[in-house]
Amino acid sequence: MIADTIRLIESELHDKAKLIAVTKTKPVELLREAYEAGCRRFGENKVQEMAEKQPQLPDDVQWHLIGHLQTNKVKYIAPFVALIHSVDSLKLLQEINKQAAKSNRVIDCLLQIYIADEETKFGLSAEEAEALLNAPELDALSHIRIVGLMGLATNTDDTDKVRLEFRGLKELYDKLGQIKRPMIQFSELSMGMSGDYRLAVEEGSTLVRVGSAIFGSRT
Ligand SMILES: *Cc1c(COP(=O)(O)O)cnc(C)c1O
Repeated sequence: MIADTIRLIESELHDKAKLIAVTKTKPVELLREAYEAGCRRFGENKVQEMAEKQPQLPDDVQWHLIGHLQTNKVKYIAPFVALIHSVDSLKLLQEINKQAAKSNRVIDCLLQIYIADEETKFGLSAEEAEALLNAPELDALSHIRIVGLMGLATNTDDTDKVRLEFRGLKELYDKLGQIKRPMIQFSELSMGMSGDYRLAVEEGSTLVRVGSAIFGSRT
């Protein structure tokens, strides 16, 4: 079942975007099943849950943190995390850099941009993201790379609205990706979830984060 769904979604992505299977709240057995079906990218939104699951799966899994990250929890994921999608401050980048250095790693990060019409979503405005990418303090951070942007569209049936939000994020990605600094190397645009990943790919997504369409609804 899961294997068929994963294959179907992957075929819809046309090699344009990579699939991140969002496994938050799901038991490790289900992650193993997805792994057997070929999934190598898993997305979790909670540090503790990701840190508990990571040792129970093979080492070639890429772990993507897609939820809000507090500075005091960075240390638990720094040794293994593949990509942090939810960076929203210089302070957090500095802590990721510090913990990455301890593990002798360079950690890839995305800036989370606020694109939705909803008050509950985290993220930076376009202006804040631009200011952060130009901050002189980044020069001291040799253990992070900022590889792109992430955004969550408004949760609505209005596909025109969602499309415009994705399009706006892609425009910002193209603009900010031109900033020339060694730690800025844009290659990933993380947008699209179960309800809107097809739209997101049409608008230029390179990473879709799909949970319920694969694993069923979360209770
Ligand atoms: C839960 C979550 C997803 C996946 O949502 P589905 O609708 O289940 O596909 C994607 N991105 C983020 C940031 C999430 O928290």
